Amino acid sequence: MSDIVNNIKNIRNRIVLACERAGREADSVELLLATKTVTPDRVRIAIEAGETLLGENRIQEFAVKNPELSDLKYERHFIGHLQANKVKDIVKYGIDCVQSLDSVELIHLLDRRFQAEGRSLDVLVQVNTSFEASKFGLNPGEVFAFLEELKKYDTLKFKGFMTIGLFDSDAEAVRLSYTRLRELRDRAIAEGIISPESKELSMGMSTDLETAIEEGATIVRVGSAIFGKRN
Ligand SMILES: *Cc1c(COP(=O)(O)O)cnc(C)c1O
Repeated sequence: MSDIVNNIKNIRNRIVLACERAGREADSVELLLATKTVTPDRVRIAIEAGETLLGENRIQEFAVKNPELSDLKYERHFIGHLQANKVKDIVKYGIDCVQSLDSVELIHLLDRRFQAEGRSLDVLVQVNTSFEASKFGLNPGEVFAFLEELKKYDTLKFKGFMTIGLFDSDAEAVRLSYTRLRELRDRAIAEGIISPESKELSMGMSTDLETAIEEGATIVRVGSAIFGKRN
Protein backbone atom coordinates (compact mmCIF):
# COMPACT_ATOMS: atom_id res chain seq x y z
CA MET A 1 0.00 0.00 0.00
CA SER A 2 1.29 3.49 -0.74
CA ASP A 3 2.68 5.59 2.07
CA ILE A 4 0.05 8.22 1.46
CA VAL A 5 -2.86 5.80 1.83
CA ASN A 6 -1.25 4.32 4.92
CA ASN A 7 -0.65 7.77 6.42
CA ILE A 8 -4.27 8.76 5.81
CA LYS A 9 -5.40 5.62 7.65
CA ASN A 10 -3.18 6.58 10.58
CA ILE A 11 -4.51 10.14 10.67
CA ARG A 12 -8.11 8.96 10.46
CA ASN A 13 -7.37 6.58 13.30
CA ARG A 14 -5.88 9.40 15.38
CA ILE A 15 -9.02 11.46 14.72
CA VAL A 16 -11.31 8.62 15.83
CA LEU A 17 -9.30 8.02 19.01
CA ALA A 18 -9.16 11.73 19.86
CA CYS A 19 -12.93 12.00 19.36
CA GLU A 20 -13.50 8.99 21.62
CA ARG A 21 -11.37 10.51 24.35
CA ALA A 22 -13.17 13.84 24.00
CA GLY A 23 -16.60 12.20 24.02
CA ARG A 24 -17.34 13.39 20.49
CA GLU A 25 -18.76 11.67 17.42
CA ALA A 26 -15.99 10.68 14.98
CA ASP A 27 -17.88 12.30 12.11
CA SER A 28 -17.92 15.68 13.89
CA VAL A 29 -14.38 16.32 12.63
CA GLU A 30 -13.51 16.78 8.96
CA LEU A 31 -10.06 16.10 7.59
CA LEU A 32 -8.66 18.77 5.28
CA LEU A 33 -5.57 17.82 3.32
CA ALA A 34 -3.07 20.69 3.34
CA THR A 35 -1.51 20.06 -0.06
CA LYS A 36 0.96 22.94 -0.44
CA THR A 37 4.00 21.87 -2.51
CA VAL A 38 2.49 18.38 -3.03
CA THR A 39 2.52 17.30 -6.66
CA PRO A 40 -0.82 16.56 -8.38
CA ASP A 41 -0.06 12.84 -8.79
CA ARG A 42 0.40 12.51 -5.03
CA VAL A 43 -2.74 14.50 -4.29
CA ARG A 44 -4.57 12.18 -6.68
CA ILE A 45 -3.62 9.15 -4.56
CA ALA A 46 -5.28 10.76 -1.54
CA ILE A 47 -8.46 11.68 -3.39
CA GLU A 48 -8.73 8.24 -4.94
CA ALA A 49 -8.38 6.82 -1.43
CA GLY A 50 -11.60 8.68 -0.56
CA GLU A 51 -10.52 12.10 0.67
CA THR A 52 -12.69 15.00 -0.49
CA LEU A 53 -11.38 18.20 1.11
CA LEU A 54 -8.24 20.01 -0.07
CA GLY A 55 -6.68 23.22 1.16
CA GLU A 56 -4.04 25.36 -0.51
CA ASN A 57 -2.08 28.35 0.77
CA ARG A 58 -1.36 29.81 -2.62
CA ILE A 59 -3.84 30.35 -5.45
CA GLN A 60 -1.11 29.40 -7.91
CA GLU A 61 -1.22 25.81 -6.65
CA PHE A 62 -4.90 25.53 -7.59
CA ALA A 63 -3.99 26.84 -11.04
CA VAL A 64 -1.50 23.99 -11.43
CA LYS A 65 -3.49 21.19 -9.78
CA ASN A 66 -7.04 21.87 -10.96
CA PRO A 67 -6.41 20.82 -14.58
CA GLU A 68 -4.48 17.72 -13.52
CA LEU A 69 -7.27 16.60 -11.19
CA SER A 70 -10.23 17.73 -13.29
CA ASP A 71 -11.66 14.19 -13.48
CA LEU A 72 -11.99 14.05 -9.67
CA LYS A 73 -14.50 15.59 -7.29
CA TYR A 74 -13.23 17.41 -4.22
CA GLU A 75 -13.84 20.56 -2.25
CA ARG A 76 -11.32 23.41 -2.48
CA HIS A 77 -10.56 25.60 0.51
CA PHE A 78 -8.16 28.52 0.51
CA ILE A 79 -6.15 28.53 3.76
CA GLY A 80 -3.36 31.03 3.07
CA HIS A 81 -3.13 34.80 3.22
CA LEU A 82 -5.36 36.24 0.50
CA GLN A 83 -3.98 39.23 -1.35
CA ALA A 84 -6.35 41.76 -2.85
CA ASN A 85 -5.06 41.17 -6.38
CA LYS A 86 -5.83 37.43 -6.09
CA VAL A 87 -9.50 37.82 -5.22
CA LYS A 88 -10.57 37.32 -8.85
CA ASP A 89 -8.79 33.95 -8.82
CA ILE A 90 -11.04 32.68 -6.02
CA VAL A 91 -13.80 32.64 -8.64
CA LYS A 92 -11.54 31.53 -11.48
CA TYR A 93 -10.27 28.40 -9.71
CA GLY A 94 -13.58 27.35 -8.19
CA ILE A 95 -12.71 27.87 -4.52
CA ASP A 96 -15.58 26.69 -2.29
CA CYS A 97 -14.45 28.33 0.94
CA VAL A 98 -11.97 31.00 2.02
CA GLN A 99 -10.81 30.12 5.52
CA SER A 100 -8.59 33.18 5.92
CA LEU A 101 -10.96 36.15 5.77
CA ASP A 102 -9.43 38.84 8.00
CA SER A 103 -10.05 42.33 6.61
CA VAL A 104 -12.91 44.59 5.65
CA GLU A 105 -11.09 45.30 2.40
CA LEU A 106 -11.31 41.60 1.50
CA ILE A 107 -15.02 41.55 2.39
CA HIS A 108 -15.63 44.38 -0.07
CA LEU A 109 -13.54 42.86 -2.87
CA LEU A 110 -15.01 39.37 -2.50
CA ASP A 111 -18.54 40.76 -2.27
CA ARG A 112 -18.09 42.72 -5.48
CA ARG A 113 -16.79 39.64 -7.33
CA PHE A 114 -19.45 37.28 -6.09
CA GLN A 115 -22.25 39.77 -6.70
CA ALA A 116 -21.08 39.93 -10.29
CA GLU A 117 -21.13 36.12 -10.41
CA GLY A 118 -24.57 35.98 -8.82
CA ARG A 119 -23.48 33.45 -6.23
CA SER A 120 -22.12 33.14 -2.73
CA LEU A 121 -18.91 32.00 -1.08
CA ASP A 122 -18.42 30.19 2.22
CA VAL A 123 -15.99 31.95 4.54
CA LEU A 124 -14.26 31.35 7.85
CA VAL A 125 -12.82 34.26 9.78
CA GLN A 126 -9.15 33.84 10.65
CA VAL A 127 -8.21 34.82 14.18
CA ASN A 128 -4.69 35.34 15.47
CA THR A 129 -5.12 33.49 18.77
CA SER A 130 -1.39 33.36 19.57
CA PHE A 131 -0.80 37.12 19.18
CA GLU A 132 2.38 36.39 17.20
CA ALA A 133 3.26 39.41 15.06
CA SER A 134 4.16 37.14 12.13
CA LYS A 135 0.63 35.73 11.91
CA PHE A 136 -2.27 36.97 9.86
CA GLY A 137 -5.77 37.05 11.23
CA LEU A 138 -7.82 39.37 13.42
CA ASN A 139 -6.99 39.91 17.04
CA PRO A 140 -9.68 38.26 19.18
CA GLY A 141 -10.82 41.68 20.43
CA GLU A 142 -11.64 42.83 16.88
CA VAL A 143 -13.70 39.81 15.90
CA PHE A 144 -17.21 40.75 17.06
CA ALA A 145 -17.19 44.13 15.29
CA PHE A 146 -15.88 42.40 12.17
CA LEU A 147 -18.70 39.83 12.30
CA GLU A 148 -21.28 42.63 12.55
CA GLU A 149 -19.80 44.13 9.37
CA LEU A 150 -19.67 40.75 7.59
CA LYS A 151 -23.39 40.20 8.29
CA LYS A 152 -24.25 43.00 5.85
CA TYR A 153 -23.00 40.99 2.87
CA ASP A 154 -25.30 38.25 1.57
CA THR A 155 -22.67 36.95 -0.84
CA LEU A 156 -20.41 35.81 2.00
CA LYS A 157 -21.75 32.91 4.05
CA PHE A 158 -20.07 32.88 7.45
CA LYS A 159 -19.44 29.31 8.63
CA GLY A 160 -17.07 29.74 11.57
CA PHE A 161 -13.47 30.42 12.50
CA MET A 162 -9.95 29.39 11.61
CA THR A 163 -6.71 29.75 13.51
CA ILE A 164 -3.11 28.71 13.22
CA GLY A 165 -1.94 27.73 16.69
CA LEU A 166 1.09 29.06 18.45
CA PHE A 167 4.24 27.93 16.66
CA ASP A 168 5.62 25.53 19.24
CA SER A 169 6.48 21.84 19.13
CA ASP A 170 4.82 21.36 22.52
CA ALA A 171 1.15 20.60 21.83
CA GLU A 172 0.15 21.70 25.31
CA ALA A 173 1.66 25.15 24.70
CA VAL A 174 -0.48 25.35 21.57
CA ARG A 175 -3.67 24.40 23.40
CA LEU A 176 -4.41 27.91 24.64
CA SER A 177 -4.75 29.14 21.02
CA TYR A 178 -7.42 26.53 20.41
CA THR A 179 -9.22 27.16 23.69
CA ARG A 180 -9.37 30.86 22.78
CA LEU A 181 -10.96 30.16 19.41
CA ARG A 182 -13.61 27.86 20.91
CA GLU A 183 -14.46 30.36 23.64
CA LEU A 184 -14.73 33.15 21.09
CA ARG A 185 -17.18 31.12 18.99
CA ASP A 186 -19.23 30.10 22.03
CA ARG A 187 -19.44 33.70 23.23
CA ALA A 188 -20.44 34.92 19.75
CA ILE A 189 -23.25 32.35 19.71
CA ALA A 190 -24.34 33.12 23.30
CA GLU A 191 -24.49 36.84 22.55
CA GLY A 192 -26.49 36.26 19.38
CA ILE A 193 -23.80 37.70 17.11
CA ILE A 194 -23.65 34.55 15.00
CA SER A 195 -26.05 31.69 14.41
CA PRO A 196 -25.44 28.42 16.29
CA GLU A 197 -25.02 26.76 12.89
CA SER A 198 -21.90 28.84 12.15
CA LYS A 199 -19.91 26.62 14.43
CA GLU A 200 -16.89 25.52 12.39
CA LEU A 201 -13.52 25.62 14.12
CA SER A 202 -10.69 24.96 11.67
CA MET A 203 -7.68 24.27 13.87
CA GLY A 204 -5.06 21.61 14.47
CA MET A 205 -2.33 20.22 12.21
CA SER A 206 -0.13 17.13 11.92
CA THR A 207 1.48 17.37 15.33
CA ASP A 208 -1.38 18.66 17.46
CA LEU A 209 -4.68 17.52 15.98
CA GLU A 210 -5.55 15.63 19.19
CA THR A 211 -5.27 18.82 21.24
CA ALA A 212 -7.38 20.71 18.70
CA ILE A 213 -10.07 18.02 18.73
CA GLU A 214 -10.18 18.09 22.53
CA GLU A 215 -10.76 21.84 22.25
CA GLY A 216 -13.57 21.42 19.72
CA ALA A 217 -12.00 21.44 16.24
CA THR A 218 -14.48 20.58 13.47
CA ILE A 219 -11.86 20.73 10.69
CA VAL A 220 -8.25 19.64 11.15
CA ARG A 221 -5.73 20.61 8.47
CA VAL A 222 -3.07 17.98 7.91
CA GLY A 223 -0.15 18.09 5.51
CA SER A 224 3.22 16.63 6.43
CA ALA A 225 1.87 13.64 8.39
CA ILE A 226 0.22 12.47 5.16
CA PHE A 227 2.49 13.67 2.37
CA GLY A 228 5.83 13.74 4.18
CA LYS A 229 8.15 16.59 5.08
CA ARG A 230 8.18 19.61 2.81
CA ASN A 231 11.45 21.08 1.52
C1 LIG B 1 0.79 23.67 6.00
C2 LIG B 1 -0.41 24.05 6.74
C3 LIG B 1 -1.09 23.14 7.53
C4 LIG B 1 -0.64 21.71 7.73
O1 LIG B 1 0.55 21.68 8.44
P1 LIG B 1 1.30 20.27 8.71
O2 LIG B 1 2.16 20.56 9.87
O3 LIG B 1 2.05 19.97 7.47
O4 LIG B 1 0.25 19.27 8.99
C5 LIG B 1 -2.24 23.57 8.17
N1 LIG B 1 -2.70 24.83 8.04
C6 LIG B 1 -2.07 25.75 7.29
C7 LIG B 1 -2.63 27.12 7.19
C8 LIG B 1 -0.90 25.38 6.62
O5 LIG B 1 -0.27 26.30 5.89
